[in-house]
Amino acid sequence: MYLIDTTDLDIPSLAYTKFIDDICELLICLDSLTQYDSTISITKDSISQLIKQSVFNRNFTKILTSGKLKILLLDLLTKGNIIKKNYNFQKTNYKEILKDYTLLNGYKTNVAEKNFFTYLYSNTLETKYFEQYIQTHNGLTIKDIGNRILLKSSVCPYCNGSYLDNKSYSKDHFLPKANFPLLSIFINNLVLSCGVCNERYKLENYYIPSLHPYIDNINDQFKFTFFEDIEFVIGIVITSPINSQIYKATENYLELFKIKERYNSRNILTNSQEFLGDLRESFLEKCNDKAVNSINDIKIIIQGMITQKIHKLKTRHSTQLFSKLHTDILLQISNNLDEEAESIYFSLFNKFPQNH
Ligand SMILES: [Zn+2]
Repeated sequence: MYLIDTTDLDIPSLAYTKFIDDICELLICLDSLTQYDSTISITKDSISQLIKQSVFNRNFTKILTSGKLKILLLDLLTKGNIIKKNYNFQKTNYKEILKDYTLLNGYKTNVAEKNFFTYLYSNTLETKYFEQYIQTHNGLTIKDIGNRILLKSSVCPYCNGSYLDNKSYSKDHFLPKANFPLLSIFINNLVLSCGVCNERYKLENYYIPSLHPYIDNINDQFKFTFFEDIEFVIGIVITSPINSQIYKATENYLELFKIKERYNSRNILTNSQEFLGDLRESFLEKCNDKAVNSINDIKIIIQGMITQKIHKLKTRHSTQLFSKLHTDILLQISNNLDEEAESIYFSLFNKFPQNH
């Protein structure tokens, strides 16, 4: 729910871009060979030979000639130029596409692209040759990229409700690789999240416009509210103007991850009530210690405590579970300071304050 700064990945991610560029160049090159000499037919046996004779990086050649990739590559032979064009467009306009789907007008997922790139993503990324290729081009392996992100954000950026560590995270393709195979190894499209968000809720779904944890500060677009009159429930209010694109994007994000439903689960409701209970207890204790005698004194004390707690949470929003929910609970109390102070007054003196 918070913005993850990924600017330090800009340079390492160029190696992945270079890899796709190399594939496109190779395809264009193979295609021109057959156009030149129509007697050449490129088969999976000849493809290894041709790739080995080419000018590409040794590791690049090893990646493409081992495993199933060269067979899948055969289906892409005439598509080098179109892949290059589509990839460059999607990569360059990634942020804009997330806000406006019409930019992809005419783009259709191609089965051959899907097969090739999903195989590449699933079977090749952690192989020795791929990692060596990436390192030769000043990139970081996917594992190192993961570790670098985890240093900054150890809580799921989608739900804010699960810790992530280097053994227990899920790599989500924000725009799913089934629909956007060319973005399967585009680093900005890979979001580290918890398994529940990725594998139970998001799956292959996506909505556009959408909020993205590397681009948007999702925190700022809505607030949690709590109601405790009849039973304890959590509500959500989107704060941006209705009918705006960002409003729609927020709505889509909340729907995609079923945030309201999940925040009204027994676990999170219990967590919220405990948080609120502890908070009120700490208010009471402090007011008791300070020997307050007026509503105004109480208000000053609890407002000071709230400000301090919000400040603390702000510095930990990407490392502490439910930091957004807790911040919003504090803000709601701060907005109802009179009521809160009266209740403390009543607990301290067993009577309502005068003039109230
Ligand atoms: Zn999550």
